[in-house]
Amino acid sequence: MPRLLLAGAGHAHMALMAAIPELVAKGHQVTAIGPGERHYYSGMGPGMLGGTYQPEEISFPVRDMVESRGGVFLQDKVATIEPARHVVILESGHEEPYDVLSCNLGSFVPQDLAADGNIALPESPEGADASQAVFPAKPIEQLWKARRRILELARDRQIRVGVCGGGPAALEIAGNAWAAGRENGGKGCVVQLFAGRKLLRTMPEKVRRLAEKALLKRGIEVMEGSYVRSVQSGEIHLENGQQHAQDVIFLALGVQPSPVFRTSGLKVSEDGGLLVDQYLQSLSHPDIFGGGDCITFAPGPLAKVGVYAVRQNPVLLHNLQAQLEGRSLKAFDPGGAYLLIFNIGGGQGILHKSGIAFGGRAAFWIKDYIDRKFIKKFLPDAPSKTR
Ligand SMILES: Cc1cc2nc3c(=O)[nH]c(=O)nc-3n(C[C@H](O)[C@H](O)[C@H](O)COP(=O)(O)OP(=O)(O)OC[C@H]3O[C@@H](n4cnc5c(N)ncnc54)[C@H](O)[C@@H]3O)c2cc1C
Repeated sequence: MPRLLLAGAGHAHMALMAAIPELVAKGHQVTAIGPGERHYYSGMGPGMLGGTYQPEEISFPVRDMVESRGGVFLQDKVATIEPARHVVILESGHEEPYDVLSCNLGSFVPQDLAADGNIALPESPEGADASQAVFPAKPIEQLWKARRRILELARDRQIRVGVCGGGPAALEIAGNAWAAGRENGGKGCVVQLFAGRKLLRTMPEKVRRLAEKALLKRGIEVMEGSYVRSVQSGEIHLENGQQHAQDVIFLALGVQPSPVFRTSGLKVSEDGGLLVDQYLQSLSHPDIFGGGDCITFAPGPLAKVGVYAVRQNPVLLHNLQAQLEGRSLKAFDPGGAYLLIFNIGGGQGILHKSGIAFGGRAAFWIKDYIDRKFIKKFLPDAPSKTR
């Protein structure tokens, strides 16, 4: 029986997980590996932080999705891939064989992204002591833990929240942390955004102005012109020598692909992403494919946005079957400009596409509609209520 192994049950594997009944009917064995029973949809993660969504509304029960459709789900993490033996080794030590492997291992927030590589973090935010609340933007589950921490602290006093990063994730987290602090009679948060050189510096001027205006209106301070050097004992240290004490700190300093490929000796790009060709097929190992943040698309770099992971779904579905069945592969076309909407908390958004940009409630509604549709598409009976 040909064995299809899905390493990671994230955004790029949604169509594959939906198609398990057809794959099984064709005689393929499908196994998926994921660290948790649920996969969180990042597009709605900041909204969960800000209280718009509950965790179950924005996550996919991937174990059920796989098992109820005839596949096998292994709750574990991929440690290494041994392509010569066609085997994936899991953190538990279990070895899982494959004929064709598809990787959707995502990305992580590195702890050494500051200019001098000196972000000192607790081993894990879960293990951190109560006074040292440092939360990376990924995995998205961390935003739920951060929300609980903010609600708890802001019940008694106004708290300080520092967000390290100057990109869209940092903007969304700052806005939603601010919203969380005001919930249920909370005393609120003083939010500072440590944006490095400039907030949203790769975005058009119009988008940047909309973001600055919205943040200013809420009293969120944007610190530009100096990068974060380190985060230690509840303090953010900047390169310019300033130190800012915080109750809660978020790290949204960008992401890097899963380190698994480099350690496995596969052909990777400089940042460690699995190098794939136009068929999303590994340049070094034809029985390995990949999608989402963990790959580097050799024909041209792609931004690390969920939009591409989603667009890659049908191509991965086709090509993995084609590889198992000896048929020809389809090329992935990244497509043109994509719509970006930032959820900045409090029911407000900022929309941007091809020179058009506006902010306000309508922008958030559009995002909410699109995001809920995505969840429903792969989870027909998803809950739809908001709080
Ligand atoms: C706060 C935030 C908000 C964002 N909002 C948007 C947005 O609105 N729109 C947008 O387009 N993009 C958004 N992004 C970017 C988006 O998150 C990523 O581009 C997207 O998640 C990539 O999808 P993926 O499936 O490759 O990775 P992921 O969503 O990270 O999924 C990877 C999966 O692999 C699993 N995994 C990780 N390591 C292992 C392992 N070793 N073994 C097995 N499984 C493993 C993870 O648990 C996860 O389930 C946002 C990012 C952040 C941080």
